[in-house]
Amino acid sequence: MNQNVIVLNCGSSSVKFAIVDAQSGHANLTGLAENMGSHDARLSYKVAGEKHALSLPSGASHQVALAEIQRIIKAQPGEPIGVGHRVVHGGEKFKEAVVITQEVKQAIAHHAIMAPLHNPANLMGIESAEQAFPGLTHVAVFDTAFFQTMPEHAYLYALPKSLYRDHGIRRYGFHGTSHQYVSEVASDTLNIPYENINLITAHLGNGCSVAAIKQGQAIDTSLGFTPLEGLVMGTRCGDIDPSLPSILSKQLNKSMDEIDSMLNKASGLLGISEDSNDCRTLEEAALEGDANAQLALQMFCYRLAKYIGSYLVVAGPIDGLVFTGGIGENSSYIRTTTLAMLAHLGFTLDENKNLDARFGNSGNISAEGTPILVIPTNEEWMIAKDTQRLTSSTGA
Ligand code: ADP
Repeated sequence: MNQNVIVLNCGSSSVKFAIVDAQSGHANLTGLAENMGSHDARLSYKVAGEKHALSLPSGASHQVALAEIQRIIKAQPGEPIGVGHRVVHGGEKFKEAVVITQEVKQAIAHHAIMAPLHNPANLMGIESAEQAFPGLTHVAVFDTAFFQTMPEHAYLYALPKSLYRDHGIRRYGFHGTSHQYVSEVASDTLNIPYENINLITAHLGNGCSVAAIKQGQAIDTSLGFTPLEGLVMGTRCGDIDPSLPSILSKQLNKSMDEIDSMLNKASGLLGISEDSNDCRTLEEAALEGDANAQLALQMFCYRLAKYIGSYLVVAGPIDGLVFTGGIGENSSYIRTTTLAMLAHLGFTLDENKNLDARFGNSGNISAEGTPILVIPTNEEWMIAKDTQRLTSSTGA
């Protein structure tokens, strides 16, 4: 039976698209339009193993890219059963994926206050796809939904409570679709019913987060009100003294927006290495003896190990530790360095298995004791599965 779902991820400067078989997870088509609004806007896609690239007009808008994407999707054989949209912020309203209605769109627009770069772009993708595919059910899958099970003591900041009541200031978490996907795969791999499983999952890409999962439910995560809190990331600082932004603003005579941009775009691995935000580049430099690259990677692993240690307190005893995302799936260096810091907590690494589990290969890389799983993430499949489920339940 045809289970093909169009998956759209309309971001602030890029649009990712795919046609995914919700049953098998196989992507028949994958593509990316990037650098929207800039002079080198471009679009590339892969269908039946064949790569295609198009240049878009200089400064091409999202709408221009989406029109091109619709043309590419409509040229594929077979009718998709629905469209799944990745939406970054669902606030407290959305605890799971939903069929998109007028009310849902209004709520996504409302949550743009908390995700000003992402939610408006997500909404634009939804409205454009609704026009292109009017007969299909459209589903919103929220990055924050998986973390709606966090208890109050984990999601509140120790700020005046009125900020939460009146303005929704709290920790929401992000990357939920990825954490949920790898948790479900871990449950299958370890043969433990999902509702009984305790895990720590680390999604390490350009953005990074760790989640504590107890009995199949997220109980804590390192990203907060925005995707800046927690771990050291490619260009984001993660945890810092909360007094620093105002002190830096005065000392450097910069506006708060400029400081915000520094913390988001010029910090993390890039800020410390003074070279690159790219883990692979830094590993190569570190091996050649570059002290700044070595320090940046050391800080990345140190912060990660501290978070894993603290999540053992809240989720433990755990059934497994999971690595995913571009770094988590590929960097044996980051895994070795982090796990060496956690050796006294029951994690032992099999170095050969660690080297094998890269470049798309999954596996349990522990020598003994707590399983350490490398699981390639697949957010598109998770979105396709949610869309398929909601499409059938609405009888569409
Ligand atoms: P995004 O968060 O944008 O989806 P990814 O999940 O693709 O990003 O992760 C990108 C990160 O993964 C980069 O820092 C990149 O260097 C790192 N990475 C990819 N492959 C490797 C590798 N073989 N070794 C080390 N790091 C890698």
